[in-house]
Amino acid sequence: MDFEDTPEEAAYRERVRAYIKEHKSKLAPGGRYADASKEDQQLSQATLYDGGFMGIGQPKEFGGQGGTPIQQAIVNQELAEAGVAGPINGIGMGMCAPTVIAHGSKEQQDRYLHRLFRADDVWCQLFSEPASGSDLAALRTTAVREADGNWRINGQKVWTTGAQFSDYGILLTRTDPTLPKHRGLTMFVVDMHHPGVTVRPLRQMSGRSQFNEVYFDDVIIADEERLGDVNDGWRVALTTLMNERVNVGGGGSELGVPAEELLKHARARLPELTEENRALAKRDLGAILVDSLGSRYTGHRVLSKLSKGEAPGPEASAGKLSGTRVARHGADLGVRLLGDDAVYAATSDGNNLWQSTEAGLPGLAIAGGTNEVLRNIIGERVLGLPAEPRLDKTSPFEGAKKS
Ligand SMILES: Cc1cc2nc3c(=O)[nH]c(=O)nc-3n(C[C@H](O)[C@H](O)[C@H](O)COP(=O)(O)OP(=O)(O)OC[C@H]3O[C@@H](n4cnc5c(N)ncnc54)[C@H](O)[C@@H]3O)c2cc1C
Repeated sequence: MDFEDTPEEAAYRERVRAYIKEHKSKLAPGGRYADASKEDQQLSQATLYDGGFMGIGQPKEFGGQGGTPIQQAIVNQELAEAGVAGPINGIGMGMCAPTVIAHGSKEQQDRYLHRLFRADDVWCQLFSEPASGSDLAALRTTAVREADGNWRINGQKVWTTGAQFSDYGILLTRTDPTLPKHRGLTMFVVDMHHPGVTVRPLRQMSGRSQFNEVYFDDVIIADEERLGDVNDGWRVALTTLMNERVNVGGGGSELGVPAEELLKHARARLPELTEENRALAKRDLGAILVDSLGSRYTGHRVLSKLSKGEAPGPEASAGKLSGTRVARHGADLGVRLLGDDAVYAATSDGNNLWQSTEAGLPGLAIAGGTNEVLRNIIGERVLGLPAEPRLDKTSPFEGAKKS
């Protein structure tokens, strides 16, 4: 892959830059951990969509822009460079939209996708439960068919990012416990404002509340809101999960604080350190910069594959794994360079970028596949090691041992 822009990419980058500059007053201020109201973030995404810069990789017939993964990467880079927040509907665009495109009816696609890309509706992903995260197919939220053909939902989800301001969610449920666990699942679109849906925010150690518990008490979902066939939900969920892996750090986007930012921060702080600590900090800084280049280029391999129309393989897992590791190492160094300031919520620089990054990063090592599960994938698919024994693939779910 050539890392320089082609003339067409350079022209595209110029267009993105000019558009961001012209519409800056409507764009929500960024920084990975910046907060803005739902309305401000919706306006921001709608402004970018109207300019042709949201839903870039999705086909025009579905409300996307029909662009390329490289164009998407350019927009991401320029938004970060300009200090503009990422889209409020990142999960909607990255995971829910590809699922509705691949498995939804024409009616669902017409109803939902354009509004999703413009952030008129915000979406979330309702998969994980208290006893089913990595082992997602062990979930227990039930959908039982009513006499009129609609579905009655009962159960609990957890760690649902953005549920507190979402309008819709994609919901994975169990519809037949007599089948083996991967074969008795069904996916739905759920209206988050529906009676019986209760969202309870969870407080994180960073002080923020980005994810939630979501309870379903006798929620009725119309059969037209089903995504894919009854009991075929695992196949539908795999579309979501494949896209999630690329979206959460597998596509060359930098996790945590960008290496350039760390370098700037270190330059300002190094003179204040003792000679011994300065030497240690420089050694760490060198290692982090090298690792971050490695991680960035692994991400570029994913982009390269995507731009040729190929599905990314284990490099997406490797990219996420190494991206999380280097982000963690960088944030640790940033906090160490702060010295005493690191114990305060805001530094004498007037921001808490390093502390909030440090507190937020452990979550990234879990979201979208934990480090351990990604290592399993690399072990099995890259190194050819034997797969884990799976005794629960063929027996009925209802007879399986409950954890
Ligand atoms: C920031 C963040 C955002 C999230 N957003 C969402 C969201 O929007 N929607 C949603 O549905 N979920 C979301 N999640 C949940 C996430 O998908 C789960 O936390 C994740 O799948 C891990 O599941 P678990 O927490 O149940 O851990 P478990 O699966 O119980 O794992 C516990 C530990 O055991 C290890 N482990 C488990 N199985 C294996 C194995 N086979 N081999 C080796 N080690 C193993 C794990 O790696 C981990 O260290 C989010 C999580 C985080 C942290």
